[in-house]
Amino acid sequence: MRITDITAHTVRTKYKGPWQHDRRFYVKNDVQANTIIVIHTEGKITGIGEATHSPGLYGETPGSTVGALELVRPYIIGQPALNRNAVLNIVDRVMPLGNLAFISALDQALLDIAGKAYGLPVVDLLGGRAHESLPTHINPPTNEHFMSCLENFLKEGYRVFKIKMSGDTPYDLNMISSALKTVDETVTLSLDANQGWNVPQTLAIAARIEADPYYRDNVILEQPVHASDFEGMAQVRRGTKLKLMADDCIRTVADLARLIKLEAADIVSIKISRCGGIRKCQQMVAMAEAANMLYIIDEINEMRVANTAVAHLALSTRSPLYTGTTCHRLLQDDIVLEGGVQIENGQAIVSNEPGLGIGRVDLNLQNI
Ligand SMILES: [Mg+2]
Repeated sequence: MRITDITAHTVRTKYKGPWQHDRRFYVKNDVQANTIIVIHTEGKITGIGEATHSPGLYGETPGSTVGALELVRPYIIGQPALNRNAVLNIVDRVMPLGNLAFISALDQALLDIAGKAYGLPVVDLLGGRAHESLPTHINPPTNEHFMSCLENFLKEGYRVFKIKMSGDTPYDLNMISSALKTVDETVTLSLDANQGWNVPQTLAIAARIEADPYYRDNVILEQPVHASDFEGMAQVRRGTKLKLMADDCIRTVADLARLIKLEAADIVSIKISRCGGIRKCQQMVAMAEAANMLYIIDEINEMRVANTAVAHLALSTRSPLYTGTTCHRLLQDDIVLEGGVQIENGQAIVSNEPGLGIGRVDLNLQNI
């Protein structure tokens, strides 16, 4: 069964929240534009994957994804669709460093094809279910309404929350303090500074959080310093009790090797859309486990096709702290009309349907 064609379909939808008025280091566009890649085969099975873009962080856009497809298309057409390694090895040679969101989409689509051909869900192709479900974090859509969102999400069963830092320290500390007062030790709070602080600022803020009367060992500090500053991460780790998570700085296995060598984090956030797909993330999971580094299987701006792929990967891994499969819930429209990852009581689950388990998808969505 050979690959006969690959098509790209860019879909756009708006975020639910009033992002422009919000206070965050990492500002999102009002509209999320991701590109669905469809691999067609002579066996009439098709596979889908989603290139999820974060232009402000990594520079990838629908235009760059379509350009990347045009670059690799001649090398992939005619390749055996069930030989994922052969196809991805070609892609690695043609584009050894860039276009990681696009490569992730190809990887998802190849796994979707294999699952449909063999009658197995992707999680089984990855070795089987290590978990029937996993807690997923959720990111309250706006900081201005953080506490009311938090309380609603707690009622829905969520136990892991991301709080985006704004750069206004009194405002941020007040939000953190309110959250600590509201939740118990079964709830995890990840404070995401998205590279906004330097080392002295981070240590000063961390000390204030540790001094909070409601502080417990359930607070994670996520990527406080610039993604290029691995040594700064190591300094922060040595200077605070808060668990330090590396996020934006990890794109390649070499990045993770450097992080491990410098002992520069307690936890690494592993993301298919940022790291080049499930195959690369499986390598990173193996590295983290071998180094006794904690990890999460996380998301960044996904719609529900890629969020589904994240869930299949997460459920196959041995000991993630939690996963992230709720980005699609922050958007006004869901491109997946049938199947895909489900969230029940704050937990991510996938069905046993073959492949990604996604039925109909709205490839024409343009809510701009
Ligand atoms: Mg982050």
